[in-house]
Amino acid sequence: MADKRDILKKYFGFSCFRRGQEEVIDAILAGRDVLAVMPTGAGKSLCYQIPALLLEGLTLVISPLISLMQDQVKALQEAGIPSAFLNSSLSSGEYGKTMSGILRGDYRILYVAPERLKRGLPPELGESQPGIALVVIDEAHCVSQWGHDFRPSYLEITGFIGELNRRPRTAAFTATATPRVREDIRRALALKEPFGLTTGFDRKNLYFEVQKPADRFGALWECLTARRGKSGIIYCSTRKTVEELCGALKARGLRATRYHGGLDDRERRENQNDFIHDRKPLMVATNAFGMGIDKANVSFVIHYNMPKNMESYYQEAGRAGRNGEAADCILLYSPQDVRINTFLIKNGQDGEVKNQALIDHN
Ligand code: ADP
Ligand code: MG
Repeated sequence: MADKRDILKKYFGFSCFRRGQEEVIDAILAGRDVLAVMPTGAGKSLCYQIPALLLEGLTLVISPLISLMQDQVKALQEAGIPSAFLNSSLSSGEYGKTMSGILRGDYRILYVAPERLKRGLPPELGESQPGIALVVIDEAHCVSQWGHDFRPSYLEITGFIGELNRRPRTAAFTATATPRVREDIRRALALKEPFGLTTGFDRKNLYFEVQKPADRFGALWECLTARRGKSGIIYCSTRKTVEELCGALKARGLRATRYHGGLDDRERRENQNDFIHDRKPLMVATNAFGMGIDKANVSFVIHYNMPKNMESYYQEAGRAGRNGEAADCILLYSPQDVRINTFLIKNGQDGEVKNQALIDHN
């Protein structure tokens, strides 16, 4: 029988595991629940995709982002791993085809939006043999109201699992490390004595710098000039700044695009794709942009404004250097930002609405 190393090599083309991956895979194969906290880019997907190929039965991956699901399934299919997704982007014909495929046992891995668990899956799935071997909750912090991406439908996951004939092992993954969020995940998902793994958060390929420029745009321009042709994200705290900055960069001939909660779904999707496929290598965005974006070659993240808190900062900056190459995280500090953030926090405002485009509307 193939083992985890053969699969790592054969399907994914890697010859060694990264920190934490092997322990998580072993725990899942041993039948344990898992709660793994690993930073963005650490390689969480392999931790469940490899067991999916070794276990008998289907692996169900609950994921909050339609675009991410599609990308992952495409990559898996290209690697020769039978997989599919269920979300609102499918036509009813495609949906029906996938449902039949599930019942025939065509897939090893099925990605599903949390909103689809209750009524979107074939009811026979829970009873069929070998049924569901593993339930994975990706971006598991979405279950916590203390996190920044709370998603109410994540609260229905436990009920769904409870109604299955046999309880599959359950593995939760997140990059959000606060003890409160971790405890919330464990409780809300009713994980049973989970194998807990929290890897270090030091990512050696990331270089962190704080600048205190008198002329903020000038400093940004310098950063960008030094990195021409490379892909990067520029985070701003307001939609207005995103608009202004993106306009200014475009006017100066840079291939930049924008993203914030005030744009319609279509534009957000298009801009995101332009960025992901490097048609526009610069993304100017509010914090509504980025969750689950798997773009390996982001070589810098610049915070044009100070982020809300340390957690958000690390999550956003952590989108740089996912391919393991040297990458820069630069914060342009201004005392004025502190005043704006203090105001927003005191008035209980989030600074930006949650990204509605990510919700899988039924
Ligand atoms: P996460 O979900 O933790 O943010 P991903 O699972 O998206 O991270 O993986 C990030 C990148 O790391 C991907 O491009 C993936 O192919 C790569 N990767 C994962 N595991 C390994 C490994 N063992 N060796 C080399 N690259 C890896
Ligand atoms: Mg991930």
